[in-house]
Amino acid sequence: MQGFIININKARDEDLIVTVLCEERLQTLYRFYGSRHSTINIGYLIDFEVQQNLKTTISQLKNVLHLAQSWNFVSEKFYIWQEFIKLFYPHLKDVEHIDKFYFELLKKASEKWQKQNAKRVAVESYLEILIHEGRLHNTANCFLCDRKIEDRVALARAYLPAHIDCIYDSGYKMESIEKFFKTKNSFHLDNADIERLYRTLCEGV
Ligand SMILES: [Zn+2]
Repeated sequence: MQGFIININKARDEDLIVTVLCEERLQTLYRFYGSRHSTINIGYLIDFEVQQNLKTTISQLKNVLHLAQSWNFVSEKFYIWQEFIKLFYPHLKDVEHIDKFYFELLKKASEKWQKQNAKRVAVESYLEILIHEGRLHNTANCFLCDRKIEDRVALARAYLPAHIDCIYDSGYKMESIEKFFKTKNSFHLDNADIERLYRTLCEGV
């Protein structure tokens, strides 16, 4: 089975409780400490086996193989990946059946991560999540005061549109955000805009 590690908690001694996002569900598994084991990290795509344990409710994570991509060893890129992928845990941890969409989205993003600006890939992927979950608001009205937004739009957490004065943010050109939301492509946004959109994303999926 394959999946992305989206959370790791320490258990007793040096054992770990690991949550893996697979195609159709989240698996939370127990990993016994062992010096023979390879190290694992949040963000890794792994191939693994699950061993049921009759004595406990939690199954064991076994035979882990890190399906590494070259950028996994580029610390700056990998750090952004970890920051991004960690957001999926609070978002999905209570969902029983996971839509294939999330695994496929991460797979697609991880393939782009090497060549493209990582934060740009994250921001574009997040937009796809909002659209998929039906949570993307159009930019016509401010989510706080409900009045029409004119030339500049600010984006709050979950890219909720607002007046720049309502959330005390310098905002973006309305047409740039409209184009981004419509095309799902951030090509016309500069790196400074991407940086700010990424910071908003990090407030929570
Ligand atoms: Zn407003």
